[in-house]
Amino acid sequence: MPDNGNPTAGVKDRLRIPHTPYAEREPEARVHDFQDIVLGYDIETARREASRCLQCPQPSGCAAACPLGNDIPAAMWLIAQGDFIGAANIYRQTSIFPEICGRVCPQERLCEGSCVLGKRLGPPSLGKLEMFVADYQRAVEGWPKPTLAPATGKRVAIVGGGPAGLAAAESLTRFGHGVTVYEAAPYPGGLLMYGIPSFKLPKSLIVEKVEYLAGLGIEFACNTRVGRDITVDSLFEQGYHAVFLGVGANIDAKLKAPGVDLAGIYQSGEYLLRTNPPRELVPDRFREPPQVGKRVAVIGGGDTAMDCLRTSLRMGAEEVTCYYRRTEAEMPGSKKERVHAMEEGARVEYLVAPVRFIGDEDGHVCAMELQRMGLGEPDQSGRRRPVPIKGSEFTVPVDTVVLALGYWPDETIGQTTPDLKTHDYGLIDAETQTGQTSRPGVFAGGDAVTGPDLVVTAVVAGLHAAQAIHEYLAALN
Ligand SMILES: Cc1cc2nc3c(=O)[nH]c(=O)nc-3n(C[C@H](O)[C@H](O)[C@H](O)COP(=O)(O)OP(=O)(O)OC[C@H]3O[C@@H](n4cnc5c(N)ncnc54)[C@H](O)[C@@H]3O)c2cc1C
Repeated sequence: MPDNGNPTAGVKDRLRIPHTPYAEREPEARVHDFQDIVLGYDIETARREASRCLQCPQPSGCAAACPLGNDIPAAMWLIAQGDFIGAANIYRQTSIFPEICGRVCPQERLCEGSCVLGKRLGPPSLGKLEMFVADYQRAVEGWPKPTLAPATGKRVAIVGGGPAGLAAAESLTRFGHGVTVYEAAPYPGGLLMYGIPSFKLPKSLIVEKVEYLAGLGIEFACNTRVGRDITVDSLFEQGYHAVFLGVGANIDAKLKAPGVDLAGIYQSGEYLLRTNPPRELVPDRFREPPQVGKRVAVIGGGDTAMDCLRTSLRMGAEEVTCYYRRTEAEMPGSKKERVHAMEEGARVEYLVAPVRFIGDEDGHVCAMELQRMGLGEPDQSGRRRPVPIKGSEFTVPVDTVVLALGYWPDETIGQTTPDLKTHDYGLIDAETQTGQTSRPGVFAGGDAVTGPDLVVTAVVAGLHAAQAIHEYLAALN
C-alpha cells in the first residue's frame, strides 16, 4: 500500500487509496440542535483523502468547474504533504471565502462533479478539504492579513452586504479604496447570515468574517435600506465615486390559493429568519420563533425546502413532509441536501400541489387540500410540466405550513435609481464580466443580476465588479 499522505506515489498507487468520507454527526443527535452537522477531517484522514487526487495536467476538470478557478490540484498536493497553511493560501489567492464555500458550495455539481475519478471511485472530498485547511489556518494563525495598496482617496459605496457585496468590498479595500457597505438588515452577511441555516453554516463564522473586514477598514452602515432611507443619487452626492449594487433577490414567491393567509402559514424567508440566526441580530419584528406544530408541511422541492424541513425537525415537529408537484428527477436542488433531510426524518410526497388551506375556528391552519399531478411535456426550464389530475383532490391535516417556492428581486432599487435598466420584475441589467450597469459609475452583481443562484457565483460577480470598478476609478484621475 502507498504511504497514506505520500504525494509522490504514482497514479496506480493513488487509485488504490480508498475514499474516506468526512465525518458527520449522527442524524439522531444532530436533529436536536442547530449546530454544524459536519465534523470534517482530522490531519491524517485529510492527508490520505487529498493524496487520492491524480494531479491531472492543467487545466484540470475540477479547477475549470470551480467558478472561482481555485487551483484545487495544487491545494491537494500541499494537503497530502501536510502543508495545510500553504494549501489554505492557494485557495485565498482566488477566493475570499474558502471556509464558507468549502461548507456550502454544491461541490457535486462543480469541482467534485468534474473529477476524473468520477462515480466509480468517487472524487476526493474537495469541498470539505477546502474547509479543513481554511479552518486549520485560522485556528493556527488567525485570519490572514492581506497587504493593502496605498490609499487612493477614492470611495466606493457597496449596497447590500451579502457575499457579492462583501467580496467586492474586500477586493476594493485591497486596491486601496475607501469602502462603506450599506446594508438593510441589522447585520451584514445577506443570506449567509439570514438564509442558509446554522446547521450548514455556523453564524459565528460570518460574525468573524465581518469583524475581520471591519479590521481592514471597511465601514458598515446597517439598518439602512437604499431606495428608502437613502438613494443611489444621494450616495454620489455624498462623494462616493462609484456604487456597487449587490442587493440579492430576497422577495419570497407567493402562492395564490384560498386560505394562504391563515395563521401558521409562513414564507420560507421569514421561517428561516425566525429560527436560525442569533436572535440579537434579527430585526425586532422577527425575533419571536414561529409556531411550529406537530405536523409540518413544506411546499416546494429545492434546497430552501430542504432547509425548512430540517429546521422544522429541529424546532420539535414530529411529522415533517415535503409536498412537491413533480418527481425527484425534476427536483432543482442538490441530492446531498435531500439525503440529509431524509436521514433526519423528513419525508417527501411527490406529484402533489396544494389547492387550498383550511382553517380552524381561531383562523389557524388545520388542514390542506392537495391535488395529484401527472407529468406533461417539458416546460421552459427543460423539466416535465406538472399536469393536475381531475378529481384527485384529497385533504391532509397540518399544523404548520411553510411555502418554499423561490425568490424574486426587489424592484425598489430600479424604481429609485434614474437610468438604471432592469428586467423581469427588478433584476438589474449588468455586463457579465464587469458588472457595469446602464448607469455610469454603477455596477451590480450576484443574485440581483442573475436571480437566485449560489454563494460562489455571487462572490465571483463581486470580485469581477471590484476589478472593473478599480479600472473605472483609475480612469477618473
Ligand atoms: C434558504 C437558502 C439556502 C441557501 N443555501 C445555499 C447553499 O447551501 N449554497 C449556496 O451556494 N447557495 C445557497 N443559497 C443561495 C445563496 O445564499 C445566494 O445565491 C447568495 O447569498 C447571493 O448573494 P448576494 O450577495 O447576491 O445576495 P444576498 O446574499 O441576498 O445579499 C443581499 C444583501 O443585500 C441587502 N439588501 C437588499 N436590498 C437592499 C437595499 N435596498 N439596501 C441595502 N441593502 C439591501 C440584503 O439585506 C442582503 O443582506 C441559499 C439561499 C437560500 C435562500
